[in-house]
Amino acid sequence: MKRCKYCGKQIEDSFEFCKSKCKENYKKAGECDSRKMKYFISGMALGFLVLFCGVCAGSNTIMGTGIVLMGIMVILLPFTTPETNALLGYQRARTAGRTLGILLLIAGIFALY
Ligand SMILES: [Zn+2]
Repeated sequence: MKRCKYCGKQIEDSFEFCKSKCKENYKKAGECDSRKMKYFISGMALGFLVLFCGVCAGSNTIMGTGIVLMGIMVILLPFTTPETNALLGYQRARTAGRTLGILLLIAGIFALY
């Protein structure tokens, strides 16, 4: 059994999407994502840099700030890999991405205090 690439509904092996609307949405979302990708990458790089500085300085506050930054980026722009898309469908993969971002955010806040 395959899953619709967009909504994750189970479909027959010969199809990629359950309906043409899903195909359209998937294409649109993909175009939108590739435009936002550079913001996501720079945000993640910045968060990682802050986290790295915090580790070097031995400061929980700086480390926590870096993790919170990365968490916010993942929540705002939950980019999904082709693997998770194929496994869960685009929409569910995004929800999974957001959940991960929220976990990062919580972990960062805990590190701050
Ligand atoms: Zn679908």
